[in-house]
Amino acid sequence: MRLSRYFLPTLRETPKEAEIVSHRLALRAGLIRQESAGIYAWLPLGLRVLNRICAIIREEQNRSGAIELLMPTIQSADLWRESGRYDAYGKEMLRITDRAEREMLFGPTNEEMITEIFRAYVRSYKALPLNLYHLQWKFRDEIRPRFGTMRSREFLMKDAYSFDLDQEGARHAYNRMFVAYLRTFERLGLKSIPMRADTGPIGGDLSHEFIILASTGESQVFCHRDYLDFHVPGPDTDFDSRADLEGIVKKWTSLYAATEEMHDQAAFDALPEGSRVSARGIEVGHIFYFGTKYSEPMKAYVTGPDGKEVPVHMGSYGIGPTRLVPAIIEASHDEAGIIWPDAVAPFDAAILNLKPGDGATDRVSAEIEAALGARGLSALIDDTDERPGAKFATADLIGLPWQVIVGPKGLGEGKVELKRRATGERVLVSPDEAVERIAS
Ligand code: ATP
Ligand code: MG
Repeated sequence: MRLSRYFLPTLRETPKEAEIVSHRLALRAGLIRQESAGIYAWLPLGLRVLNRICAIIREEQNRSGAIELLMPTIQSADLWRESGRYDAYGKEMLRITDRAEREMLFGPTNEEMITEIFRAYVRSYKALPLNLYHLQWKFRDEIRPRFGTMRSREFLMKDAYSFDLDQEGARHAYNRMFVAYLRTFERLGLKSIPMRADTGPIGGDLSHEFIILASTGESQVFCHRDYLDFHVPGPDTDFDSRADLEGIVKKWTSLYAATEEMHDQAAFDALPEGSRVSARGIEVGHIFYFGTKYSEPMKAYVTGPDGKEVPVHMGSYGIGPTRLVPAIIEASHDEAGIIWPDAVAPFDAAILNLKPGDGATDRVSAEIEAALGARGLSALIDDTDERPGAKFATADLIGLPWQVIVGPKGLGEGKVELKRRATGERVLVSPDEAVERIAS
């Protein structure tokens, strides 16, 4: 992609409305634009990151056995009256009336709708276990939308819903998502820690928030330091093995980890001094077993092997991709800008053509892009008329993992400069060698 033909509205000035670094950098790097309070447009570069995050989420959901569908954003009020949540939800719900005066709403979540879909088709335990998920926009009229897309009113969510015959089955469904979440956040370049979360009136210990430690996080969290070095299960994990998953979840819940609401100061104080981490955190995911809370009032029953009808056991599992973009920036940036982890970078490399219009720099820039393309990697060529200093600044700001600097002087000796954004390390290599290194 050539920058001269792309749409990358970067900002020189630091926007004053942005309080935290991820919000500032997301605006300056041209990832997002606010359209109303808490409502954002995703500009091309931001959208590429968001799409890569969603792709990783999908891969890990699918690996764990969940199945993707897509439910609408607009829902009927009547559906929510069945569960009793239409009145209970309060002002966070955006309520809409259509031309026929029917009460509708912009979905803040989808438990009711997925339960309606389930009960329309499933009657027998033989169809279980089942886990259905989608990636869809939600709207919650948050009192205090802030920090850009970290807490917005319109946001993207991956929400999955599991259905099982009994609590034991539901536990396995929960464990599948627990492990899928560990893997997902690791692949996004983040260290996530599952922390016990409040389950409300249902009780039990089956709710965890997945937290990324960050000084700008909205939650106060407490955990054992060893979590930071725990090994995340690999792609060969057998999601059908109840024992294997139980073992992983046991390990990942064996040490102290809690958000403020669930914090037990005495238990925390009992940890060795050096193991106590008290920090701020960002909630990037939340998993929840809620049993028959919706299936009972909404009459989603299945017949068990004994011929008896029982309400299906459910859980729900959310991840916020539009919150993950700023969470990743919070975790990975420096003075000069964003440092994208390889897995989510909007392009794999920036090619800085220091003399556009020069036959040699134009040709080599295009050749490097083509060679990267042949290996499934993408590049953004800065072929604008900006001065080299401005190009370096833009490249550091937008944070692509590699920079290939193509100038007439270096090319005279058959070399380009390759810079790794994360470390600042630079080497002079041939164009082929640069491609090799980026691809390896
Ligand atoms: P919070 O406590 O941050 O308001 P929540 O408990 O309301 O979150 P859930 O209903 O569990 O969130 O939603 C699942 C996921 O959706 C969250 O873990 C988060 O990643 C994301 N999410 C929730 N609310 C927002 C929001 N206002 N803006 C962006 N992402 C959000
Ligand atoms: Mg909330």
